Amino acid sequence: MKPALITLLLAITAAAMVYRVSTATAEDQRPPPASQPSKPIPPEIAKKLIPDDRNRVALTDDEWKTILTEQQFYVLRKHGTEYSFRNEYHDHKADGSYACRGCGQELFDSKEKYDSGTGWPSFWKPRSEGVIGESVDHDLGYARTEVHCSRCDGHQGHVFKDGPPPTGLRYCINSAALKFIPR
Ligand SMILES: [Zn+2]
Repeated sequence: MKPALITLLLAITAAAMVYRVSTATAEDQRPPPASQPSKPIPPEIAKKLIPDDRNRVALTDDEWKTILTEQQFYVLRKHGTEYSFRNEYHDHKADGSYACRGCGQELFDSKEKYDSGTGWPSFWKPRSEGVIGESVDHDLGYARTEVHCSRCDGHQGHVFKDGPPPTGLRYCINSAALKFIPR
């Protein structure tokens, strides 16, 4: 290859690298999304969100899609994970409780929220006993404990054993699965 051609190729490679770095930086500096939009709840679905005598609600995927945004549906119903740091509640410090975005059951409380440094809202325990259900998933190739709302089975996140005292637990939760209720 001619030296001039090699120089040109090197210049193109360098330009591509600079472009990649600058676009990555631009993405990282995007502000976290503002308050998540809430869709209106049609009366026939509102009726189905009243828990039965076993504290359960069951909607079809189409019904969930009517009342959840695409991101909320992806997290709650398809076990999705949102971006760290670029989510509504990771740095949210107001006093109140956090309810399930799907069915409204109160799951966590600001008194048990802490900064885990992960970029996701983190709690060292659920708000009360029985509101969080657990299962084991192998989505990343190893066993993790998945956590979900016990009323509607909406996926919330995972629980790990590297949290602060007194429980030593870290409930790593998706903001899109929560709705904050100020006290
Ligand atoms: Zn729920």
